[in-house]
Amino acid sequence: MKKKTVAIAKLVFLCSLFIGISGGIGDVQAQEASRKIVVFEKAFSDRGRQIALVKSQGAQVIKPLALINAVAVFLPEQAEKALLSKAEVVRIDEDIIVNAIAKPQPQPQPQPAQELPWGIDRINAEIAQSTTGGLAVKVAILDTGIDLDHPDLLNNIKGNVNTISSRRSGNDDNGHGTHVAGIIAAVDNSIGVVGVGPEIYLYAVKVLGKNGSGWLSDIIEGFDWCINNKMQVVNMSFGSSGDNQSFHDAISKTYAAGVVLVAAAGNDGAANTVNYPAKYPEVIAVSAIGQDDKLAGFSSFGPEVDIAAPGVTIKSTYNDGYYKSLNGTSMACPHVVGVAALVLSTAVGAYDTDGDGAWGPSEVKNKLEATAENLGLSSNEQGAGLVRADLAVQ
Ligand code: CA
Repeated sequence: MKKKTVAIAKLVFLCSLFIGISGGIGDVQAQEASRKIVVFEKAFSDRGRQIALVKSQGAQVIKPLALINAVAVFLPEQAEKALLSKAEVVRIDEDIIVNAIAKPQPQPQPQPAQELPWGIDRINAEIAQSTTGGLAVKVAILDTGIDLDHPDLLNNIKGNVNTISSRRSGNDDNGHGTHVAGIIAAVDNSIGVVGVGPEIYLYAVKVLGKNGSGWLSDIIEGFDWCINNKMQVVNMSFGSSGDNQSFHDAISKTYAAGVVLVAAAGNDGAANTVNYPAKYPEVIAVSAIGQDDKLAGFSSFGPEVDIAAPGVTIKSTYNDGYYKSLNGTSMACPHVVGVAALVLSTAVGAYDTDGDGAWGPSEVKNKLEATAENLGLSSNEQGAGLVRADLAVQ
């Protein structure tokens, strides 16, 4: 049988590791059957019948995606047209992949005495911590996992899952997710660093593999896990230049479930390059600034940017109990996630605009924007301005 290369959009990191998703043509392994997401009519929701239908057309099932009433499959090209002609099938999307933008990284450092990273200081998180440390707010990090034994994170890690391989844990085999985790909630102790909210509950949702790449279907399963486990905020330090309907549908359903969604804007360093999912209206899009309060040269910007946060030379936790400084909108995003969690931990007040006694995603976003610091940059660069933890929790 003749081998063919399949064109697949890919997702990549958004740091020197931002994890970004781009809409490029695949450098993906050539396959005879390509990975697809088969989306069904609403009324056709029986999983057994869905699986039987795709199998009858020669597809091999990867996993059901209940959140969007779909099944991820390996599908022979010649079967796609026939499957698409079935009345039960709405659409067949690409199962896009995620890749790390790997740049040379400094060597990790062993445990130093605790310091206050400049980004935490700049957004006045240490001042906000006299009001709240974000105790028990549930934050999911959809990433490469978290170093589950890291001494500066251990006390705050309350759960983990691996949607790539259900038999494995959410332990980090890359380092990117662990770095994000430390920015959000490194423990306030004598070692390393301190996070935005050192009492936040962290959940490792491993959707990206060791090399920083993963499939959209694994990310969608991660959203489903977040809803079922009542996550309150989701960190997405990844993105794509290409739109994908299954991706947006999964985002919309997660947002509708009341989850605050925050994503890195992207590391494309140019105007009108904000990546998906940051570009979707349900998601808070975060650009990166440096210690000079200027937009980082690598940061994507455009009208979809909602807020800015520190993203240059950010020191945080790394795999195997280590620490590292990294650059990227991947690092800016968790600053905003941490502040969103602090906001959720404060008493409801004037910003509970619908009076339901809880903070919904739009209420949290409004609060973050209303209390942001104007840096004098364009709105395409800074959105509402720099996120300010001290003002957001007042
Ligand atoms: Ca610490």
